[in-house]
Amino acid sequence: MIPLDLSNRQLHAALERVTAWIEGYLGDPGRFPVLAQVSPGAVAARLPASPPDEAESMDAILDDFERVLLPGVTHWNHPGFFAYFATTGSAPGVMAEMLTAALNVNAMLWKTSPAATELEQRALDWLRQMLGLGTGWFGVINDTASITTLLALAAAREAKPDLQVRVRGLAGRPDLPVLRVYASEQAHSSVDKAAITLGIGHENCVRVPVDEAFRMRPDALASAIAADRAAGRLPLAVVATVGTTSTGSVDPVSAIAEISAGAGAWLHVDASYAGTAAIVPECRDTLAGVERADSLVVNPHKWMFTPIDLSAMFTRRPDVLKRAFSLVPDYLVTAEQDEVVNLMDYGVQLGRRFRALKLWMVIRAFGVSGIAERLRNHMAMARDFASWVEREPGWVLAAPPMFSLVCFRCAPAGLPPEDADVLNQRVLDRVNASGRAYLSHTRLHGRLVLRLAIGNLRTEPRHVADAWSLLRDAARA
Ligand SMILES: *Cc1c(COP(=O)(O)O)cnc(C)c1O
Repeated sequence: MIPLDLSNRQLHAALERVTAWIEGYLGDPGRFPVLAQVSPGAVAARLPASPPDEAESMDAILDDFERVLLPGVTHWNHPGFFAYFATTGSAPGVMAEMLTAALNVNAMLWKTSPAATELEQRALDWLRQMLGLGTGWFGVINDTASITTLLALAAAREAKPDLQVRVRGLAGRPDLPVLRVYASEQAHSSVDKAAITLGIGHENCVRVPVDEAFRMRPDALASAIAADRAAGRLPLAVVATVGTTSTGSVDPVSAIAEISAGAGAWLHVDASYAGTAAIVPECRDTLAGVERADSLVVNPHKWMFTPIDLSAMFTRRPDVLKRAFSLVPDYLVTAEQDEVVNLMDYGVQLGRRFRALKLWMVIRAFGVSGIAERLRNHMAMARDFASWVEREPGWVLAAPPMFSLVCFRCAPAGLPPEDADVLNQRVLDRVNASGRAYLSHTRLHGRLVLRLAIGNLRTEPRHVADAWSLLRDAARA
C-alpha cells in the first residue's frame, strides 16, 4: 500500500529543515543578492523536462530548492529592495501562511469555514478603523488591487440598473451609450485592464491630465465629463489615485468626489500603496475625501508587512457589488445564506484562500502603533534620501518625494537630457548588478527617472545610505 501523505516522521524531519531555513532566511535575507543574477532560461535549463515517476525524498526536493531555484530568486524580502513598491513577508505573516496551507480552507461560503469568513470581516473592520475611515464600509479580501479595481468597476456598471448589462451584456446593444471611465494620466494600468476586461473598451478609459505635481486636474476631469455628455456618452466611473505608482502623487479626492457625484459616476479610490500611510496619526489626511467614495482599495501586501497576496477592498455599497456578482446554483444553496456573508457573492471567483489569518496575525503581532512606527521610519528614511539627492551637485529630484518613495535623476550640468537618460539607465544597471540594492525606473515628462521605494520591514538607514553610495559610484564610473 502506498503511504497517504508524508509519514509523521518524514513530516517532522522536513518541517525542521524548512523552519530552520525560514528562520535563517528571515534572520538575514540580505546575505543573498537582492536581484537574481541569472539570464533568461538559466533556471529552466536546470529543471528536468519531465516529472518524476517515482516519489522523491523531501531532502532531495529541498536540496534543489536551495541549489537550483534560490539563485533565480529576486529577494523581495531583502532590505536593499527599493524597486517598484517594496514589500515584506513578515514573520507573523509567514507563519500564518503555513497554517493557512495546513488548513486548506476554501472560504467560498460562510458554511465552508465560518471562522475564515468572520475573521475576514473583523480583520477588515480593524483595518478600516486603522485607516481612520468611518463606519458604513463593507470589506472583502481579494488577491490583488487589479482584481479589486475590476470588481469595483463591475459594481459601477451594476449601479446603473437601466443599462441591464448583467443580463443582456454589452455586445449588439445599439440602445446603450458608450460607457466612460476616467483616471489620471498617472493612474495604474489595472484601470485600463479592467476597462478592457469588462468590455468597456480601452479607448473609453479616459486619461485625465495632471498638474505639475502629477495629481489629477479636477478642471480637466470636469471638462472631459462635460464633453462626453455633450457627445451622448455615459460617465460610468472615476478612479482617483492616492499614491500613484510612478511618483506617489495624491489626486484631490474631495474635488473629484464632487465632480463624480455631479455626473452620477461611481468613485473608486486606488490607494493600493499609500493607503496604509493613513495608519500613521500625522498622516491621517492621506485618505481625506475618501469618505465620499463608493469603493476603495488598499493593499496590506504592499506597505503593511503582509505576505502577497492580500488586497483589501472596501465599499459603501456592498448591495450593488453583490447584485453584480451573486449567483447561487443549487449546489451552493445553504440554509443560513440570508443571515450570513457568503464571500463568493462579492466577486468573480468562487474559491478563496483563508487570507484573513495573515492580516489578523500581522496586526496583532505588530500592533497598530507598531505598524505606524515602522511606516513612519520608512517615510523618515525616504526624506533623508531625498535631502541627500537635493544637496548633491549633478543630482535632482524628479518629483516631490511622497510617503516612502523618492523619484530622482542623475543630471550633470550641461548634459543633454537624452544623454542623461542613457547615463541613468547605466547607473541603474550598475547598481542592480551589485546585488546590494535594487531600484526601478519610470518615465516622467518623457525622461527616464529612478525610483527608490522603501517598504521592507528590514530596511534600515544603513541600507539606504549604501544604495546612495552605490548610485554615486555608478554615476562616476
Ligand atoms: C501596485 C499598484 C496596483 C496593482 O497592485 P496589484 O495588487 O499588484 O494588482 C494598482 N494601483 C496602484 C496605485 C499600485 O501602486
